[in-house]
Amino acid sequence: MRFVHESQPQRVCFGSGEAAGMLARELERLGASRVMVIAAESESELAERITTGVPVALRYHEVVMHVPVGVAERARVAAKEHGADALVSVGGGSTTGLAKAIALTSGLPVVAVPTTYAGSEATNVWGLTEGARKTTGIDARVLPRAIVYDATLTVSLPVPMSVASGLNALAHCVDSMWAPNADPIDRALASEGIRALRAGLPAIVADPASLDAREQALYAAYLSAAAFASAGSGLHHKICHVLGGAYNLPHAQTHAVVLPYVLAFNGPAMPEAEWRIADALGAGRAIDGLEDLRRELRAPRALRDYGFAESDIPGAAEAMVPVVPPSNPRPVTAGDLRRLLHAAWEGADPAAMAGEEENSG
Ligand code: NAD
Repeated sequence: MRFVHESQPQRVCFGSGEAAGMLARELERLGASRVMVIAAESESELAERITTGVPVALRYHEVVMHVPVGVAERARVAAKEHGADALVSVGGGSTTGLAKAIALTSGLPVVAVPTTYAGSEATNVWGLTEGARKTTGIDARVLPRAIVYDATLTVSLPVPMSVASGLNALAHCVDSMWAPNADPIDRALASEGIRALRAGLPAIVADPASLDAREQALYAAYLSAAAFASAGSGLHHKICHVLGGAYNLPHAQTHAVVLPYVLAFNGPAMPEAEWRIADALGAGRAIDGLEDLRRELRAPRALRDYGFAESDIPGAAEAMVPVVPPSNPRPVTAGDLRRLLHAAWEGADPAAMAGEEENSG
C-alpha cells in the first residue's frame, strides 16, 4: 500500500438535541460576536430554535439552489454592511453553499449546521452559477471550521427529500471508490457510509421520526462527504455536474437517478469497488444491492420526471466527454454516455444496461 491522504481540518460535533449548546460553544471558540445566520425560509424555524444563545447580527433568508452569482453578491454585501465576524448556516446544501460563497471572498469562518444529507459541510468545494453555467472550485477558506450535527433537525425533512438526499450521500460514497484521488482511507470511509445508509434510509421511510435512523443517515452524510472531499469527482459527479448546471435539474434527485447506471457501467471494471459496495449493502452484487435498496425506498427513477428531455441526450453526452476523469476504471465514449443517459432518462433496468454493455463488448 502506498498513498498520501489529506484530512480536512475541521471540528465535527454530533449530538441529537444538542445543536444549540454545541453551536454556542463553537462560536465562542472562534471569538465570534456578530454572527450572520443563514437559513432558507423553510429552514428559519429550525435556525431560530438553535440560535437563542448566539450573538446574532443578521438573519439572512435569500437562499437559492446552486448559488446564483447575484444571490451570492447580495449576501456578501449584507455580511459586510452588518459587520459580521462569523457565518452560521442552518439548512441543506444550498444554504451551506451560500455561506461558502461569502467565505470565499471574505475569509469569514463558517459553522455549518446541516439539515439534509448533502454533505457540503465537510468539503472545501464551492459552487456558483451564472445563467446555465455552474462553476465549482476548491478553496480552504470555504471549509466550515466546525460542523454541528443534530439529528432532531432532520426529522422535518420530508421522506422523498430524505431518500433523494440520502442517495446523494450514497453517490458520494460510490464515486469515492474510483474518483481520481481515491485512496484506501476514502474507500474505508465510503464503505462505512454505505453500510450506515443501508441501515438508516429504510428505517427513515418506515418511521421518519426515528432518531436512530436519522443519526445513521447524518453520520453517513459526513463519512460520504469526507471521502468525496479527498477522492475528488469521479464519473458520476462529472455527469451530474453537467446535468445540474446546464439543465437545471434538482441536485439530490439527479444523483439518486443516475447512480445505478454509473455503478452498472463502472462496477464490473473495478472488482475492489464492486465487492466493497456489495459487502456494505449486504448483497451478492453491488448493483443488485443498490436496486433492492432503491425499490425499498421508492427512490427517484427517471430523469424525464425531473425535466430532462430525450432530445437533450446527445448534447449532454458531448458536454460530458471532455470532463470524464482519465483515471476512470474503464474508457468512456460519447456512445457510452448516450446509452447511459438514455437508460437514466427512461428509468430502464440498470442491470440490463450492464448486460448489454458486456454483450456488445
Ligand atoms: P437544498 O439545500 O436545496 O434543500 C432542499 C429543500 O429542503 C429546500 O427547500 C430546503 O429548504 C429544504 N430543507 C432542508 N432541510 C430541511 C429540513 N430539515 N426540514 C424541512 N425542509 C428542509 O438541497 P440539498 O440537496 O441539501 O443541497 C443541494 C445543493 O448543495 C446543490 O446546490 C449542490 O450543488 C450543493 N452541494 C454541494 C456540495 C459541495 O461539496 N460543495 C456537496 C453536496 C451538495
